[in-house]
Amino acid sequence: MTGGASGIGAAIAERLRADGLQVATIDLNPGDEKFAYAADVTDRAAIDAALKDIRAELGPVTVLVNAAGMDRFKKFTDLTFEDWQKVIDVNLNGVFHCVQAVLPDMIEAGWGRIVNISSSSTHSGQPFMAPYVAAKSGVNGLTKSLALEYGPYGITVNAVPPGFIDTPMLRKAEKRGFLGDTDKQIEATPVRRMGRPEDIAAACAFFISEEAGYVTGQILGVNGGRNT
Ligand code: NAP
Repeated sequence: MTGGASGIGAAIAERLRADGLQVATIDLNPGDEKFAYAADVTDRAAIDAALKDIRAELGPVTVLVNAAGMDRFKKFTDLTFEDWQKVIDVNLNGVFHCVQAVLPDMIEAGWGRIVNISSSSTHSGQPFMAPYVAAKSGVNGLTKSLALEYGPYGITVNAVPPGFIDTPMLRKAEKRGFLGDTDKQIEATPVRRMGRPEDIAAACAFFISEEAGYVTGQILGVNGGRNT
């Protein structure tokens, strides 16, 4: 899985390990967990190199969770094209690279699970996050298309768009004033709390399970009931 060193990705990795899976993580700063690899998801050669090591250690990759992500939080009129490209590159093109790199293993196995972490901002839009929302909306569309294309190979492809999850990324955005007042955000959330990384991990664990084999092309919002 990607983005496994922090926040939501770290919680997913921990949950999948607890469920008995052997989990390899790919991140910019991978930390010291077992099977943690350094690679930038925008760099196909680095992804291929990490996958070569992962396959040598653990065999073919039949489960992929794409959780790596970032944003630049800027007014649209202040964005440079380089900002735009960077955010699209990490959040959308990174998913392209990782999915394309592991699909042959899943096709060969006749079984696979892909879960893409998108964002609840794709339902509502979000100020100062235009390229991020565009990229994550692309991830939702990619998810649906891949589900149709690879369902016949026993591969399911689903997305989890999280909303307002307490992670380093969210706290950084909050500190910079891009998310408004946290108490007001909680008040606007039907279940009246921030999300926890474990909430997202639970949804991923379901999509990855054997019993979810008839569930594909779905976008499952985990957002405390808040869709806008
Ligand atoms: P996080 O704590 O910042 O975790 C994101 C991880 O992705 C970090 O370890 C980060 O590494 C890594 N990463 C960033 N760019 C990368 C790249 N080019 N290649 C490889 N790894 C890269 O954020 P999070 O909140 O857990 O976010 C996890 C996912 O959920 C992201 O896709 C995010 O967009 C999505 N999401 C989160 C929320 C929320 O409320 N928190 C809401 C909607 C969607 P560094 O820290 O070293 O940069």
